[in-house]
Amino acid sequence: MTLALLQFNILPSFEVEFPIRSITKVPCFVWTNTSWMHSNKKTLPVLCLPFRGTRGMTERLLQFIWQFQYFNKSELTTTSGEAVQIIFPGQHNTNQGPDFSEAKIRIADTTWAGHVELHFRTSDWEKHNHHRDENYRNVILHVVWENDVSNENSIPVLQLKERVSKILLERYEDLMNATGFIPCDKTIPTVRDIIWKSWKERLLAERLIRKAKVVEDYLQQSNYHWEEAFWWLIARNFGMKVNADAFEQVAKSIPLVTLAKHKNQIHQLEALLLGQAGLLHGRFEEDYPRMLWKEYKFYKNKYKLPPPSYRLFFLRMRPGNFPTLRLAQLAMLVLESSHLFSKIKEATSAHEISKWFDITANDYWHYHYRFDETSAFKKKKIGAAMIQNIIINTIAPMLFAYGHLHHEEKYKRRSLQWLEETSPEVNAITKRFSHLEIESKSAFDSQALIELRNEYCSGKRCLECAVGVAILKNK
Ligand code: SF4
Repeated sequence: MTLALLQFNILPSFEVEFPIRSITKVPCFVWTNTSWMHSNKKTLPVLCLPFRGTRGMTERLLQFIWQFQYFNKSELTTTSGEAVQIIFPGQHNTNQGPDFSEAKIRIADTTWAGHVELHFRTSDWEKHNHHRDENYRNVILHVVWENDVSNENSIPVLQLKERVSKILLERYEDLMNATGFIPCDKTIPTVRDIIWKSWKERLLAERLIRKAKVVEDYLQQSNYHWEEAFWWLIARNFGMKVNADAFEQVAKSIPLVTLAKHKNQIHQLEALLLGQAGLLHGRFEEDYPRMLWKEYKFYKNKYKLPPPSYRLFFLRMRPGNFPTLRLAQLAMLVLESSHLFSKIKEATSAHEISKWFDITANDYWHYHYRFDETSAFKKKKIGAAMIQNIIINTIAPMLFAYGHLHHEEKYKRRSLQWLEETSPEVNAITKRFSHLEIESKSAFDSQALIELRNEYCSGKRCLECAVGVAILKNK
């Protein structure tokens, strides 16, 4: 991986073909009484229905064909017989207005510069009221799949129906009709490594930029206090999926500056965290939880902490993930590290970070997963899988967000490096890709594949996907 080449403000070479603005829109097909209709002006929920009848042609596919010029260009003429030479097809426009802007087309003896609009049929021009719309005044070429009217407007018309390869249309139709884990599951193993390489970089960039927006929300809530926001997100991560919200609320209920006053007292830290989580209420047999409860009552009054109001779950959870234990580990993390985010920013490897998280809960927990319930001796270390989870879900995204928001590439590169140094997740998505011979060597790969499946394959965004382009081009 040549991370030095990865510039996220100016996306990789692939961006020449896939401008970032084009990926913010989900192509949308809506079922009408009689036909498929494509909405290219706004993002709507994707409805994937079987795709039949018109050899798979939609306006979105037509735009794709025009964008990449996948049609026979020999002896091109307008419907009125004038010679056409495409000097530049234009920039794909996903906002209001014509589909392509800044195109340069030679028609007969004149070179024109302006917009290109695409439609399934020529008559769609009027149906879409473009003849009354100022935005379409500078359209120099109307590209249609099928010319169904003559002289619909004075703009030259280019019909593509007989110029597009049948194989491309069949492949696209196959993708749109497929119902497997991903629509291209039969052809994806044939896609070359070089295509995967830049595509995974792009997918990961999109994923991390999206997560950076979430980090920014937390920063706003903390008045741009990076350590505080980091603390909330780490606590959230410790809560795992089930207790994430509750752990975040616990962390938010105790200011970091308050916790820092108890930095050397593990019992007080546990009392604060477990108490604010509502886990110290009740009648206990053992001395330890009773002692924590006393401590908690004192500090709760002293700091005027809000009463706990979150529900924590133990059901169907491995004992190692019980919230009691995770909060005890979190208390130990606070004890053993200070200014953790500042340290993480300067870390040189994922291994170095792993060592900071290689901590064990207080002695009481060697024999417990919950209060008053003794179990066989086992030191309650955080564990390699949890550390991997924290690096993937909190540390790398947080550092990337830091680089993104401060325009410092070195932090972005570092976060990607750490993902490359971290083992891949093994989950339902990565397992299914593995069956298709798409392996994940690191968290960099697995995160990219998760993004691909969730953000592209599920919505059948194959025309915006490098794999889809390669399949349609048979590369
Ligand atoms: S989005 Fe890409 S990877 Fe997913 S099914 Fe379509 S072509 Fe395949």
